[in-house]
Amino acid sequence: MAATIIDGKAVAARVRAEVADGVAAFIAAHGRAPGLVGIQVGDDPASELYQAGKARAADEVGMISRRVTLPGATTQAELDAIIDDLNADPGVDGMLVQLPVPDQLSEPLIANRIHPDKDVDGFSPISLGRLMRGEPGSVPCTPQGVMRLLREGGVPLEGAHAVVVGRSLIVGKPQSMLLLAAHCTVTIAHSRTRDLPALCRQADILVAAVGRPEMVRADWVRPGAAVIDVGINRTDDGLRGDVAFDDVAAVAGWLTPVPGGVGPTTIAYLLVNTLEAAWRRSGSDSYQGVHL
Ligand code: NDP
Repeated sequence: MAATIIDGKAVAARVRAEVADGVAAFIAAHGRAPGLVGIQVGDDPASELYQAGKARAADEVGMISRRVTLPGATTQAELDAIIDDLNADPGVDGMLVQLPVPDQLSEPLIANRIHPDKDVDGFSPISLGRLMRGEPGSVPCTPQGVMRLLREGGVPLEGAHAVVVGRSLIVGKPQSMLLLAAHCTVTIAHSRTRDLPALCRQADILVAAVGRPEMVRADWVRPGAAVIDVGINRTDDGLRGDVAFDDVAAVAGWLTPVPGGVGPTTIAYLLVNTLEAAWRRSGSDSYQGVHL
């Protein structure tokens, strides 16, 4: 069986077009564009690339993007003061701090400092609590992208057994909550899971979010299963996912490539989160915009 390859670039382009329409409607209603601010501490080249990509994507859909680049030695108190200013700025609907941050800074303190209504990464305790409770709020972008890929691929969700490999706050945990909300039966696996291949073989939907190149092999996959590869691993042979693509493509029913799968949808959902934050902050209850 040859898997249907779910084209993340095409899906992301559709999401961005939806957001562009939503931005136009927001401007018509409120006379201003949604504003997104990306904060970067230090000059890590990968962070630089991510930040530039996010700002460009926001500009392309008609938002106002701003980048704040701080010296690598910035203290927590200095960063807190900048976050507080942005929290109070009415033109800023969303902000994020590019991770990882230098050692003198604390990711939990940052996540707590950003106002939950502007937390477009969805990492704050309140955003994650809202996700647990099923209340409106920002949901982490990568798991939202995965749900959209599953839906656009036509993968049956209700009652399916989903195995999520990885339990990070950024991907694995929120992913599991979204799959649960979509009525999957969810198993979360991690580095201490016993007999991971056998567990993965039970999955109708397998989400790999580990960070180990090509760890998921063909014999880990039930024939016909949907396999979503979140991993991004830079190897001597180039960019690789967590899934051995060629081998698994011969077994799976659906598969996402790396690159061109989950990655493009992550930025697209940052835009969705910013647009939704802008509508929510405006107090409007008329927005029926982009949903999972
Ligand atoms: P983390 O390192 O935070 O988490 C990795 C998870 O994988 C942990 O829960 C860990 O288990 C688990 N794990 C590690 N080794 C094994 C193993 N041998 N068997 C089973 N589980 C294992 O990574 P992230 O969640 O942040 O990212 C995961 C991958 O996704 C990375 O490649 C990252 O680059 C990529 N990524 C891609 C994005 C995109 O847009 N496409 C966005 C975000 C991340 P334990 O908890 O026990 O340590």
